[in-house]
Amino acid sequence: MKLHEYQAKELFGNAGIPIPNGHLVTSADQATKVTQLINGPPWVIKAQIHAGGRGKGGGVRLVHYPYEVITAAEQLLGKPLVTKQTSSDGVIVNQVLIEEGMEIDREFYLGMLIDRSSYSPTMIFSQSGGMEIEEVAANSPELILREHINPVTGWMPHQARNLIYRLSPLPSPLAIKGLMSVMARVYNVFMDNDCSLVEINPLVITKGGKVIALDAKITIDDNALFRQKELLKLDDPKEKDPLELMAEKYQLNYVRLEGNVGAMVNGAGLAMATMDVIKMAGAEPANFLDVGGGASEEMITKGVEIILMDRRVKAILINIFGGILRCDILARGVLAAARERRIRLPLIVRLEGTNVEEGREILRNSDLKFLVARDLVEAAELVAKQVRGTG
Ligand code: GDP
Ligand code: MN
Repeated sequence: MKLHEYQAKELFGNAGIPIPNGHLVTSADQATKVTQLINGPPWVIKAQIHAGGRGKGGGVRLVHYPYEVITAAEQLLGKPLVTKQTSSDGVIVNQVLIEEGMEIDREFYLGMLIDRSSYSPTMIFSQSGGMEIEEVAANSPELILREHINPVTGWMPHQARNLIYRLSPLPSPLAIKGLMSVMARVYNVFMDNDCSLVEINPLVITKGGKVIALDAKITIDDNALFRQKELLKLDDPKEKDPLELMAEKYQLNYVRLEGNVGAMVNGAGLAMATMDVIKMAGAEPANFLDVGGGASEEMITKGVEIILMDRRVKAILINIFGGILRCDILARGVLAAARERRIRLPLIVRLEGTNVEEGREILRNSDLKFLVARDLVEAAELVAKQVRGTG
C-alpha cells in the first residue's frame, strides 16, 4: 500500500524527522487561506499522486507571490498529471500540498528497503540526490552507498558515520548531526510501520545548514496491514486502477499489464507460465489474472467481465487446470459472463483436470464461439495469431 507524500511526511514528523511546514488543500479557495499560514516566499505547490517524477512532469511548482500559489493550485487540481511513472493518460490530482520553500545547499538520496540478497533492511544513501536513483545506479554506481542492518542490534551510529564520512566535501558538524539523526529515525519509521520502502529524495541541507526531508515516499507491506489498522485508513482507492479495485472486491489476483491478450488462469504459477508462453509466442499479456484455486462461478464471471472491460484486450486466453476449481464451474462462470456482455473477441480455451469433459460439454452446447487448444503452447500460439489478425 502506497502513501501520499503528505501522509508519509506526517509519519516523518511524528518520528522526529524534520519536514517543511505545509498544508494539504483540495481547492484553490483553501489555498488562499493557507498561504497566510505558511512562511514564504517562496512556496512550493506539490501535486499529491502516488506516482513519482512529479518535478519533471510539472507537478511541483516553486512560486514567489501569493497569487501564484493560487494559480498553481488551480492549474493542478482536478486535472490529470502525466509523469514518467504514470500512464500516458496521467492521474487526476485531487489534493495539493502547499509548503514553505527551502533554500537548498545540497541534495541527498536516502532510502530504506529490504535487500533480498542480504535478507536485511538496508539503508541506501547517495550524494546524487534529487535525480532519479535508477539513473545514478546505472551510470555511476560508486555514488550509491549501502549499509545492511542486523535487526538484532538495529541501526548503529557507526553505520551512519560509514555513510556520511564518505561524502566530499564533508558537511558541517551540525549537518552531520542532522543526517545521523534522520538516518536513525528512518530506520524506526521503516520498522514501526512495517514498510517495504521509505524514500527521501531529496533529503537536503539548507543554506542555513539544516537537514530537512523535502520529499517523502512510503510503501507499507500489504501483508502487515492486518496489524497496522491505523495505516489502513490512509489508503486512497482513487489512486487505484478501477479494474484492480473491482478485482480486489471479488478476491481475484489481478494486475494490469501493457499488452492486449487478456488471460484468465488459476494459480499464480500457472499465471506466470501462461504469461511466459504468451510472450514466447510473440504477443503481450494485458493482465495477470489468477482466479485462485477455489474460485466460485461468480468469481469466474467477474474475472471474465474485468477482462472484457479492458478495452485494449483483443483476444482472451482461458487456461485452467481443474483441481479444487472444477472445469464445469469454470465453464458455467464463463457462460454467465457471456450472457451479461456479448463476447465478440476471439476466445481460446484450454481446460484440463477435474470434470474436464463436463466443462467442455457445457461450452460446446452453448452458442459461445471459442477455439480449443490441446496444450499451453498451442493455446499461446492461437491467441498470438488472433491478436496479429492472422487467425
Ligand atoms: P518528485 O519529482 O515527484 O520526486 O518530487 P520532489 O518532491 O522530489 O520535488 C522535485 C524537485 O523539486 C526536488 O528534487 C527539488 O529539487 C525541488 N523542490 C522541492 N521542494 C523544494 C523547495 O522547497 N525549494 C526548492 N528550491 N526546490 C524544491
Ligand atoms: Mn522526489
